Amino acid sequence: RIKHGNRNGFSFFSSDLQALADKRSKIEKSLRQAVQNEEFEIYYQPLVDKQGAILGAEALLRWQSEALGWVSPAEFIPVAEESGLILPIGDWLIENACKLIKTIQCNNKHLQPKYISINISPRQFIQPQFTENLLTTLDRYEVAHNKLRIEITENVAIDNMSLTIAKMQQLNDEGIAIMLDDFGSGYSSLSYLHKLPLRTIKIDRSFITDIDTLKDNQVITSSIVDICEHFSMECIVEGVETESEFNYLSEKNITALQGYHFYKPLPAKKFLALFKGC
Ligand code: C2E
Ligand code: MG
Ligand code: MG
Ligand code: MG
Repeated sequence: RIKHGNRNGFSFFSSDLQALADKRSKIEKSLRQAVQNEEFEIYYQPLVDKQGAILGAEALLRWQSEALGWVSPAEFIPVAEESGLILPIGDWLIENACKLIKTIQCNNKHLQPKYISINISPRQFIQPQFTENLLTTLDRYEVAHNKLRIEITENVAIDNMSLTIAKMQQLNDEGIAIMLDDFGSGYSSLSYLHKLPLRTIKIDRSFITDIDTLKDNQVITSSIVDICEHFSMECIVEGVETESEFNYLSEKNITALQGYHFYKPLPAKKFLALFKGC
């Protein structure tokens, strides 16, 4: 969009910025209402083993805004994060994810997902009360700590390394496993990996796309799988969309797979229906 050699280039550029800022403040305003009116819903995307059995699921926020219609989390999560609204939204999500886990526990004594994972933003994670609040909610719904897992991204881990490690250790001691999300997409540094008490690494979706044919993605993914093996961490792949991607990946030392090829994110009702009649 930047026009070279155009003296008016700046005004084009700044009107783009203005449009972006307008959009952002619209989202923020509607988000505030959404928190009040509870316009959110949680979808659950199953994670499967190589045989297709459901191991767990990831909780994913969905927002149908009264004012803006459907807004993608990729768009509103950053706004929620910047504005601080992620705190009440995150509390709402934790509360409702715990409710769902409790429902599953009550309904099905035999076939149950091992865990539900929730995404935690940096702003949430660094709250001094984060762990305590989480434990309180788990206890209130009588949810075993190992039924909930936490997904954080590399960026959370790298800002504030010593605080992060202490916090992760605390969660770990409480039996809450931590998964490193979108691994490879951020400012990854391999040197800190062994310092973090991680249960799992989730390889970023971008490395899984066309992995059956893309040599680059094969090499990157194999290396991450090796690293996980070395550090005794589980390795999960997300964004598996095709049979051939799955076939390629099924030869690898991977704990779980996630992607449209197996399940799309499902509304809670449909997700619960997967465990009916056990
Ligand atoms: P993420 O944690 O990496 O979540 C995985 C995303 O990949 C989800 O997008 C999911 O719908 C999508 N996905 C799953 N399988 C496939 C596939 O086979 N192909 C493709 N192309 N995509 C697939 P979604 O739900 O739009 O969420 C985007 C991001 O928003 C999440 O990325 C996460 O970073 C953030 N997010 C979502 N819910 C929450 C939340 O409750 N709290 C926080 N803090 N962040 C959230
Ligand atoms: Mg995630
Ligand atoms: Mg991810
Ligand atoms: Mg992501």
